[in-house]
Amino acid sequence: MNDIGNRLADLRRRIDVSSLRARRPASAVALIAVSKTFGADVLQAAWNAGQRCFGESYLQEALPKIAALAELGLDPEWHFIGPLQANKTRQVAEHFSWAHTVDRIRVAERLSAQRPQMLPPLNICVQVNISAEPSKSGCEPQAAAALCAAVSELPRLRLRGLMTIPQAQDDPEQSRPNFRALRDLQVQIRADEAVDSTQFDTLSMGMSDDFEVAIEEGATIVRIGNALFGQRPQ
Ligand SMILES: *Cc1c(COP(=O)(O)O)cnc(C)c1O
Repeated sequence: MNDIGNRLADLRRRIDVSSLRARRPASAVALIAVSKTFGADVLQAAWNAGQRCFGESYLQEALPKIAALAELGLDPEWHFIGPLQANKTRQVAEHFSWAHTVDRIRVAERLSAQRPQMLPPLNICVQVNISAEPSKSGCEPQAAAALCAAVSELPRLRLRGLMTIPQAQDDPEQSRPNFRALRDLQVQIRADEAVDSTQFDTLSMGMSDDFEVAIEEGATIVRIGNALFGQRPQ
C-alpha cells in the first residue's frame, strides 16, 4: 500500500484503540483529513485510499482544490475549519458541507442567508475558546449557549455541536481538562429547549498530537493533518 494508505490505516487503528479504551464504538469517531497546504494530487491519493472528509482552513487555496477534485469526478465532504470572517461566508456557504468555526451570530446569519437553496442546510459547529486564551478565536464558554440557540433559529443551518482548538501543550494529557470542559458544555447546551438535541451530536476536537485524549473525552470528529500527510511546508 502507498504511504497515505498506510498512515490512514494506522490512524484508523489508533482511533479504534482509543475508542475501545473509552468504551465507545469506533464508528462514533469521524476522521477529517486536514489537507491545508497539500495539493490536489495528495488529496486524490487520500481519496483513493478511502478518505472521504477533508478539512481546509484557507479559502484561497481550498477553492481551486475543490474544483480540481470535482473535475476528477470526486465529491468529498468538505469541512471549513479556518477563521471565518464575514467576507468569507458566501464561498463557505456555497462550497462546503460543514463550517466548524462559527463564533458570532453575524457570521451565522450570513451563512444561512447565502446557503444555496438546492443544497441541504450547512452543518455548523460553534467554536468555543474553551481555555479562555486572550486573542484566540471562538466564543467565550459562557456565551456558547446563547449563540447555539440563535444558530438553531436560522433556516439554512443545522446546528451540530461544538468545536475547540485548545492551547498547544507539550503533553496531550494537559489538554484533557479542556476537552472534558467542552463535553460538559455540550451536555449542558443539549438540555436547552432552544436546541434540537437529536442533531446536536458533534464534538469536533483533537488534532495529530492529542486526538487520542480527545476521543477518550468524547470527540466525535478529530481533525488530523500532520499525522496523515506529513509535516506541512512552512
Ligand atoms: C491545521 C489544523 C488542524 C490539523 O492540525 P495537525 O496538528 O496537523 O493535525 C486541525 N484543526 C484545525 C482548526 C487546524 O487549523
